[in-house]
Amino acid sequence: MVSINELQTIETKIDIQSIRADFPILKQVMYGDKPLVYLDSAATSQKPQIVIDAHKEYYENDNANVHRGIYALAHRATLAYEGAREKVRSFLNAGSNKEIIFTGSTTDAINLVAASWGRKNLTKGDVILLTEMEHHSNVVPWQIVAKEVGAEIQYIPFTESGELDQIAFGQMLNSRVKLLALTHMSNVLGTINPVAEMIRSAHRNGSLVLVDGAQSAAHMAVDVQALDVDFYAISGHKMMGPTGTGALYAKEELLQDMPPVKGGGEMIHLVKKEYFTTADLPHKFEAGTPNIGGAIALGVAVDYLNKIGMDTIHQQEQTLLSYALDKMPQIAGMNIYGDPKLRGGIISFNVADIHPHDLSQVLDQYGVAIRSGHHCAQIALAKLGVESTNRVSFYVYNTIEEIDIMIDALHKSVKLF
Ligand code: PMP
Repeated sequence: MVSINELQTIETKIDIQSIRADFPILKQVMYGDKPLVYLDSAATSQKPQIVIDAHKEYYENDNANVHRGIYALAHRATLAYEGAREKVRSFLNAGSNKEIIFTGSTTDAINLVAASWGRKNLTKGDVILLTEMEHHSNVVPWQIVAKEVGAEIQYIPFTESGELDQIAFGQMLNSRVKLLALTHMSNVLGTINPVAEMIRSAHRNGSLVLVDGAQSAAHMAVDVQALDVDFYAISGHKMMGPTGTGALYAKEELLQDMPPVKGGGEMIHLVKKEYFTTADLPHKFEAGTPNIGGAIALGVAVDYLNKIGMDTIHQQEQTLLSYALDKMPQIAGMNIYGDPKLRGGIISFNVADIHPHDLSQVLDQYGVAIRSGHHCAQIALAKLGVESTNRVSFYVYNTIEEIDIMIDALHKSVKLF
């Protein structure tokens, strides 16, 4: 175990205070005298001033529709929007801008794959392999398409430690499995799944792989080419960008073969009374006026993450995680779910028989914002044998001092029940 002094030295080296100064919301004082301790970044991250400004400045200076007008504003808006795509491409190390589709969120990205690739390629008797730790947005779109085409969904179980059972995975791979769709990092257990190895196994089996990167892309370096992943979905709002932003990475040859799901402006090349032809990638999948300001601000969020460095972000979160995992068991009745070897900054827990909603409400009185509920992962919670848990999640702007405040608030809150 690393000592508190060593942890604080890491934190000072990274200069968390100067990072925190970039986030206006973190200066807030709650209930008169309690500093805001925001520990719900897995739900949505806070936004640095530079991202807020970029959004505002777009509407103040450049607002016009993209890819259409030939006047200066439209040109600037288009350049900025496509520039943001290039930033996301480079962030994920995709080979081409054609492989980055702007979406509203991870949910939106997975629905696109299910409705387009799924409907076209899945048929009766095929298997879609999911895991027991998926967020509903990587379950329900597959349930919808499976019902339509007669495919079957199977779930790779997770073990007591909160890790995917690799032996079961190996046994479940067979010629019926057309797709493996799994999360890179669990939003309940924090588990970082060995996606690179699992992608290799799935490919050897002839199956494609979709990775839900909602929790991972914001917290660690992701290289879609090195992973050789077929589809990778991300949420802009969890990586310091605005809500209503996200992206789908998909290999170009797959996207070329996939039909559009939404029809309208932007996505066509030609429209006749009888038919239409589609626009080139990536526009084929971006019908209608996109979230231009949001995408541009997401590009600035990517710049900001790159400036801090994904490795630095990961290191700070690991520091916070090991400190919290060391302190939390000291609370009477504490039950932390899972103990995966590779874990991001997410901890789900219950304390004795205190309902998570009650506990999080009391913690809020101390200025500590944590999540309680089923975390949109009812299959995982059923496996854990509970209907809800508390969840704390960290980002690079959180500090050891904040964890101390959270632990102190937990000690005091627990005594009230
Ligand atoms: N997958 C995972 C693992 C998530 O944690 C979340 C958000 N909680 C989502 C998907 C859905 O993300 P969004 O709401 O941005 O679509």
